[in-house]
Amino acid sequence: MMTVYIALGGNLDDVKAAFISARSMIAALPDTRVTESSKRYRTPAIGPAGQPDYLNAVIAIATEMQPIELLDALQAIELEHGRERKEHWGARTLDLDIVAIEQEIISLERLSVPHPLMFERQFVLRPLCDLAPEWQHPQLKLSAAEGLEKIIAAGESPLPEGEAW
Ligand code: ATP
Ligand code: MG
Ligand code: MG
Repeated sequence: MMTVYIALGGNLDDVKAAFISARSMIAALPDTRVTESSKRYRTPAIGPAGQPDYLNAVIAIATEMQPIELLDALQAIELEHGRERKEHWGARTLDLDIVAIEQEIISLERLSVPHPLMFERQFVLRPLCDLAPEWQHPQLKLSAAEGLEKIIAAGESPLPEGEAW
């Protein structure tokens, strides 16, 4: 069993409903259990201008699935929620990213773990800190909590408090 942290994000349609249904679909994957959910945060969009705010959260799962199998399953769940890939970082109904798999390092064309941008993103680190502030990045040797502190020390405003979902 591996612990995997998955980031959920979206800014189109009913994102709250998409999170709940995606979490149920993830819980129904083979040999997989959802063990924890962060709060849900409202965050400003990055990428093309003029997009609605995002909702972001992180869940923890315990799974026997192989990383690529899990990525395939998450991409299928995105599609079932109407995800369309038009422009890079464009608005979307649901994004499911593998943030981290314990201390594993994966560099494949389709999959980089830990997620390469996670330490630049409060919308990943803040919810991850609800679940695993002590989680250590295997290469940067910083914890999630230290990463979040660094972003805020660099001048980004902390995200408003999240809510349960
Ligand atoms: P970002 O990676 O900056 O968060 P994004 O989530 O909007 O961007 P997507 O369009 O969802 O990007 O995915 C683009 C590709 O990223 C996917 O086809 C997938 O193969 C690849 N990818 C690489 N590493 C990961 C990962 N850790 N989790 C999810 N997808 C990944
Ligand atoms: Mg993403
Ligand atoms: Mg993605």
